[in-house]
Amino acid sequence: MCGVFGVYLTEDEDVGFSKLATFAYFGIYSLQHRGQESAGICSYVNGEIVRIANKGLVLDAISKEDIKNLKGKVAISHVRYSTAGDDSFENIQPIVRSSSRFGEVAIVHNGNLTNYHLIRRMLEKNGVNLKCTSDTEVFLGLLDVVEKDNSIASHILDEELIPYLVSVLKLVEGAYSILMIINGKLIAARDPLGFRPLLMGRRKDAIVFASETCAFDIIEADYWREVKPGEITIVDENGIRTYFFSKSQNTKKCIFEHVYFARPDSLIFSEYPYNVRKKMGMELAKEDDVEADIVIPVPDSGMPAAIGYSQYKNIPYEMGLIRNHYIGRTFIAPSQDIRNLSVLMKLNPNKGIIKDKSVVVIDDSIVRGTTSKRIVNLLKEAGAKEVHMRIASPPVIGPCYYGIDTPTKEELMASHMSVEDIRKFIGANSLKYLSLEGLMRSVQDPDSFCDACFTDNYPVEIKL
Ligand code: SF4
Repeated sequence: MCGVFGVYLTEDEDVGFSKLATFAYFGIYSLQHRGQESAGICSYVNGEIVRIANKGLVLDAISKEDIKNLKGKVAISHVRYSTAGDDSFENIQPIVRSSSRFGEVAIVHNGNLTNYHLIRRMLEKNGVNLKCTSDTEVFLGLLDVVEKDNSIASHILDEELIPYLVSVLKLVEGAYSILMIINGKLIAARDPLGFRPLLMGRRKDAIVFASETCAFDIIEADYWREVKPGEITIVDENGIRTYFFSKSQNTKKCIFEHVYFARPDSLIFSEYPYNVRKKMGMELAKEDDVEADIVIPVPDSGMPAAIGYSQYKNIPYEMGLIRNHYIGRTFIAPSQDIRNLSVLMKLNPNKGIIKDKSVVVIDDSIVRGTTSKRIVNLLKEAGAKEVHMRIASPPVIGPCYYGIDTPTKEELMASHMSVEDIRKFIGANSLKYLSLEGLMRSVQDPDSFCDACFTDNYPVEIKL
């Protein structure tokens, strides 16, 4: 997962340390939950790209002093956690390249290309030198080597750029929501199946793009619409233009965005994750006959589902686990060591609530099982009489190749263990997952979602 943000000022150019930088900075600040390894911003001034990027959270990676250098009308910004390529400095986004056709160009990307290795080999054969090991740079590398694709009658203003962009986007496969700066234009594009969200907003003085609407709220921009699957949108001094390089019959939006990743208060895929998660909790309750004294969430992402479960079952909802908010999200920490440590540092049982109670504890998912085991332990140590673990999504049995870091089947407990074996491993009195049908009843238009990590039905082939 990653978070992307882009802004084009429609009024005067920004001469430094005001609107442009503020929007680009706070845009990714509110998307911090989508990636915590690194953060970066770049803007375009006088034909050159100015880039500020570093490892760490937005607050640490980008200083007030740095953003004084961000001037002009257009900027893109990014928070990253690595799904392709390591977390080295070269892979921090935005990625900037000098293009023989378009001068300095920059890109930010959320997703994963499924034919990256093929494209990389093709580029290297053509003498294109790639400095990153992540898949994002190939978009820019391809811009210099592809032939024009004239299948779209492009507006005269974009006649040089559009045929090349269409060629690039027809070559890459997989998941991508991207923002680019090319020739001072802000360009947004989304893959034909629309795996990852990409939204457009506006203020009276700016057009903005972001992975989630929470990035619009923080800068007081209004949500406008989604960038549609297969769409390219260009914003420049001549206004906004939209082209379609692919007309999808079916989308494959990532259902895990609703299960776990997106912020509950964001509007993505036309729904609020909060509402979807609450419905997931209600569906889980419908499928469950356990009796308990209290329902507690694993904070924060288990909270809406626990509220739904508690309301449906009429069992009191309590805050039985208190989260230290200053530790990163467990699932997206890059190595096992750091993950173990952060589970220990992150949650503390509320003993006054837990002691002598039969507890239903609700989490959004079990991926590696480390967090669940630790939580059951914590609750038992705090005096819980019984711990019934309930998961508001089905067992994750397959890795994601479309932008989420679950790299191998071996790491996914449910791929090789039965529910009963997992229950024993985590030490709960009982364990139950939401059914796939129950999950799909929780979203509008269920056929428009990817569910491959629960079903092994992958919508796009992985090419090595
Ligand atoms: S495989 Fe799972 S996590 Fe990946 S895009 Fe599909 S639903 Fe989302």
